[in-house]
Amino acid sequence: MSRGFDVVVIGAGPAGYVAAIRAAQHGKSVACIDEWKNKDGNNAFGGTCLNAGCIPSKALLESSELFHRARHEFKKHGIKTGDVELDLVAMQKRRASIVRQLTGGIAGLLKANKIEGLVGHGKLLAGKQVEFTSVAGTVEVIDAGNVILASGSAPIEIGIAAFDDDKIVDSWGALEFDAVPKRLGVVGAGVIGLELGSVWSRLGAEVTVLEAMDDFLFMADRDVAKVAAKEFKQQGLDIKLGAKVSSAKAGKNSVAVSYDDKDGVQSIEVDKLVVAVGRRPHTDNLLADDAGIQLDDRGFIIVDDECRTRVKGVYAVGDCVRGPMLAHKGSEEGVMVADLIAGEIAEVNYDVIPSVIYTAPEIAWVGKTEAEVKESDRAYKTGSFPFAASGRAKAMEQTSGMVKIISSQDDDEILGVHIVGPMAGELIAEAVLAMEFSASTEDIQRTIHAHPSLAEAMHEASLAVDNKALNFPNKP
Ligand code: FAD
Ligand code: NAD
Repeated sequence: MSRGFDVVVIGAGPAGYVAAIRAAQHGKSVACIDEWKNKDGNNAFGGTCLNAGCIPSKALLESSELFHRARHEFKKHGIKTGDVELDLVAMQKRRASIVRQLTGGIAGLLKANKIEGLVGHGKLLAGKQVEFTSVAGTVEVIDAGNVILASGSAPIEIGIAAFDDDKIVDSWGALEFDAVPKRLGVVGAGVIGLELGSVWSRLGAEVTVLEAMDDFLFMADRDVAKVAAKEFKQQGLDIKLGAKVSSAKAGKNSVAVSYDDKDGVQSIEVDKLVVAVGRRPHTDNLLADDAGIQLDDRGFIIVDDECRTRVKGVYAVGDCVRGPMLAHKGSEEGVMVADLIAGEIAEVNYDVIPSVIYTAPEIAWVGKTEAEVKESDRAYKTGSFPFAASGRAKAMEQTSGMVKIISSQDDDEILGVHIVGPMAGELIAEAVLAMEFSASTEDIQRTIHAHPSLAEAMHEASLAVDNKALNFPNKP
């Protein structure tokens, strides 16, 4: 006789494991299937985010930033260190240990919530049945009241620069280098290219980033992108825009990369090449032909606003469906779906999903860019405040960047907030909350912000929207 669960989740990344926990909180019997295998051969829950994405990248960003600051900034603070040396083995050990602790934590959470964590491959069959193949190779068909597909995404591989797991690598490979490459090439100046380019540049690599588009950070507000481009240039990141890679050939000791730009064919030689040109939905062997699930032309599972597929009782969440590929977006979808299965009213506010790039300075935004607002034809006003005028930023020796707020002219509603500067990824939370509550600029103006704090820059930017900034000259 086959086993049955109220809810079977396929995938234990931030979308899947969160959905499983919320479903269990609703009193459902839940199984969560995951096949992730780390490079050491061990299986682990947590998906891309915990094993090869958000967490290990932030661990290395933090370590490399401290290394950089110790070498270049401590002197200004009056701290003498002598020679600061890199111990990459210890740095990588710390990264791996954080990943181990957190992925082990997910296994613990599944257990604590009485969720059956199943290690192996899951495949949706017709009639809400799930075929589970364990790592040992045993096959079992499980009956599910509801199925949540949360199979995530995988790096896009381009034929002209195919991964070889040695010299031409994806983001996961670039997180696990055991030596600092002297010359590092990165294809794609997106989020991964900038974050990982920053890590290895701070640790001493000469980094060249090749970006096909002419615009830098095309998805960000132009004012923010301009500041960020200047900062990265000063840090030594060589970002070449309008550079279309035409070939990458790995030799014995290096990779020869050719690209076309406005001046014709160019070439560079690097020791390692990271290809970070986006990610694709991962649905390999996930769906039986008669499972009834539709994919769009880019391979995403088609869902409605409530993450329902066309098969009743089958949902899909996270990177395998439309929308930004962000852990917090996937988790919120997981919560929504579990709540819907329990008969509750639930939704995700797709207009208010924050984006953060964890470079130095950090870049964060929520809502519309100025260009998008302009295009919408809604009359608007803007205000910004530079961190150079913030006492706290000065004390931190981190004065680059600014907060920019865009609000509607008619009812003062906040339409977008864009930050480049210290702790932007933390500061954006205030803007997200404000927008979730449909706050007006005046609401932020009348909110007391602690002094001295970086958050005061948000307060001053809101005042600047109405030419009332106190600590910086207003627009003439
Ligand atoms: P995943 O995390 O990809 O998890 C899917 C899981 O399902 C995997 O464990 C996979 O093995 C498993 N699976 C798939 N198919 C099957 C199957 N048939 N049977 C069993 N198991 C299966 N996002 C942020 O928000 N902030 C960040 O700072 C950030 N940094 C990132 C840094 C890097 C280098 C990368 C690569 C990504 C980063 N992301 C970040 C993106 C983030 O990792 C993803 O958006 C997030 O992991 C998506 O969650 P998910 O649960 O949808 O999928
Ligand atoms: P991305 O979409 O952010 O950037 C890819 C870049 O590569 C784009 O700028 C694109 O124009 C460029 N590109 C595409 N093809 C190219 C080519 N042939 N030659 C040169 N450039 C080319 O993708 P990513 O950086 O790979 O990241 C993947 C996903 O992971 C993103 O959707 C992102 O949301 C997520 N992620 C998020 C974070 C974060 O939230 N901090 C960090 C890392 C990754």
